[in-house]
Amino acid sequence: MKKLLAIVIVCFIVATSYIAYVITQRQAMLKNVAHHNDSWAVSQSVSEYMRLEHRLAAYGLGVESGTLDEVRLRLDIMIGRLDILQHGTLRQLIDADPHQQETLDRLHQVLTKLEAGVYGDAPLDVRAMLAEMADLDGAMTAMASYAAEYDAQRIDTQYEALTRLHRIYTGLAGGLIVCGISLIVLLLYHNRLLNRAHDGMQVLAADLRIASGELQVRNDKLAHAAHHDALTGLPNRMLFREQLEARIAARAEGIHVAILLLDLDGFKNVNDTLGHDTGDALLRAVAGRLSRLVEPGDLVCRLGGDEFIVLSAALSEREACALADRVIAEIALPYLLAEREIAVATSVGLALSQEGVGSDELLKHADLALYEAKRLGRGRVCVFRPELHTRILDRTSFEVDLQKALANGEMEVFYQPVVDAGTRAVSGYEALLRWNHPLRGQVAPSDFIPVAEETGIIQELGEWVLRTACADAARWPAPLKVAVNLSPVQFRSKALVQTVTSALAHGRLEPGRLELEITESVLLDRNAQTLQTLRSLKGLGIQIAMDDFGTGYSSLGSLRGFPFDKIKIDRSFIRDVTTGSDAIAIVELVIGVARNLGMATTAEGIETEEQFECLKRLGCDQMQGYLFGRPMPLGDLPELGETPAHEPATRAGVFLPPLSRIGLG
Ligand code: C2E
Ligand code: MG
Ligand code: MG
Repeated sequence: MKKLLAIVIVCFIVATSYIAYVITQRQAMLKNVAHHNDSWAVSQSVSEYMRLEHRLAAYGLGVESGTLDEVRLRLDIMIGRLDILQHGTLRQLIDADPHQQETLDRLHQVLTKLEAGVYGDAPLDVRAMLAEMADLDGAMTAMASYAAEYDAQRIDTQYEALTRLHRIYTGLAGGLIVCGISLIVLLLYHNRLLNRAHDGMQVLAADLRIASGELQVRNDKLAHAAHHDALTGLPNRMLFREQLEARIAARAEGIHVAILLLDLDGFKNVNDTLGHDTGDALLRAVAGRLSRLVEPGDLVCRLGGDEFIVLSAALSEREACALADRVIAEIALPYLLAEREIAVATSVGLALSQEGVGSDELLKHADLALYEAKRLGRGRVCVFRPELHTRILDRTSFEVDLQKALANGEMEVFYQPVVDAGTRAVSGYEALLRWNHPLRGQVAPSDFIPVAEETGIIQELGEWVLRTACADAARWPAPLKVAVNLSPVQFRSKALVQTVTSALAHGRLEPGRLELEITESVLLDRNAQTLQTLRSLKGLGIQIAMDDFGTGYSSLGSLRGFPFDKIKIDRSFIRDVTTGSDAIAIVELVIGVARNLGMATTAEGIETEEQFECLKRLGCDQMQGYLFGRPMPLGDLPELGETPAHEPATRAGVFLPPLSRIGLG
């Protein structure tokens, strides 16, 4: 389009310039035509010549008008004319034709002779002169017609040139008009294109405005997502930190910023046994309760997992503790989720801002306080005190120590008897792991097993317990059963069946004497692999027991789909069995269900004769508890063929220290 416009404009300029040139040419030509009237000049000369001849004849005849002066006047005029004929363009005209040159020469001679006769002393023979002049008449007339013809020719030529110029001019003018029209058309077209482009731009601008609006909304959403937890909609850790820093910076003299760090007790159990959907619903419900509980201006955040935090200001320590108590009480109220009543507790770590304590440190304080609250038991609040610092160091060193415990020979397997309810004879032993730390003393499994599970050390520890228990049991004098606890973490390992097979082979223990205890959480992922592993283990001839039965959320449901050999009723039911009718009813129900499913039952935590009698009456097959024996090192159980460790002795002449004591599998 632009090229087209440029071409038209160039054509326009060229045509205009050429028209200007043509007009100049035409003007010059018209001037020529006007100036060069040669035929007229020649015919005037011929007329003058005739007049001279006439005056001379009148003088010769002596008529009144024929005076010498008259002849002289005409001669002078004629000489003037001759001069004109001999110069300028007339001369060129005459030179172009030899006849005319000759005529001019003859005219010159005649006039010279006449001049001599009229002005000189020589006698003027008028008659002879007239005859001579008459001779020239024809040539003079021919010259006049020659000039006329020449002029006519030249006018024709000029006319033709003018006609040609006119045509060119007309053509160019037409071209100019066409160029002009094209230019107008192109400009109109260009204008339309511009209008369209303008409309397009306006649409684009509107679209851009909409897009920018959408982008803004999206940005806002992103900013919200970056600062909020997707599950509960609460502010997340990032927003919490920003707010904490801002509040600490803006904190007025003497006014505390309090943070309450919450961790749900028992949430993992809900998640593991009832599934993640219920776990998520529980977290949302907890978030809702917390949000309703706090004062306007307080901030409730979810830090991740089952960790929440409440950020409050202008609270004294007493007020902050009161808030924490309210939080604990509110969270502990039962939740109705998926048509079930669910209970969780929460532990709270409370930290109050102090001069010179930054946000990171304050959060660490709350974390330490929470750790302490957890240690003290469920549903507690603990306020940060500087002494807790040493405990955190202890916690990290705990993991490090646990990593090295096995290699350092600090691990030991204790055995607790399981008795037959009817005869009270020992039918087997449960292997229970003990950690004898040189400084911490004996660490309880409830303290280190969760850490071992978290860090993955449980795989190594579990395998060691299994190999030790199999090897120890193989050496017992009687073919009693040995029960080994399996962590859900171990159960998820694909190598479990291989590990068990290898432990049996290593200890040369008959598979029928080994009993593996699993908890309900193993069956959380009741997938093909879980059932396949259980079947493979059973296929080896091993017995499988369901441990701590009744503590999960789907106890009865967990019995479906897999034929356990035994159910171990959790200690918590046994404790209340002599006091609460509820516990009796539950235990009775469990024993009945187990019997119907062809499973044996073991009651855990029997401490009194009363409990023993009660469980016996209810039809429980086996019992385990302090009443029959506490978990003991192998060396303290002489009935298993080992003499106590403090009384080293030989058996068959060779001293055999318990394998579990020397840290070998
Ligand atoms: P568990 O398998 O249910 O073991 C029974 C627990 O109850 C033992 O605690 C035992 O000492 C305790 N107990 C037995 N009778 C009584 C009683 O009459 N009264 C009271 N109050 N307690 C009694 P322990 O040894 O502290 O072990 C706690 C838990 O740690 C075990 O519960 C088991 O789940 C786990 N655990 C122990 N050893 C291992 C292990 O080698 N591997 C795995 N994965 N877990 C283990
Ligand atoms: Mg057990
Ligand atoms: Mg148990």
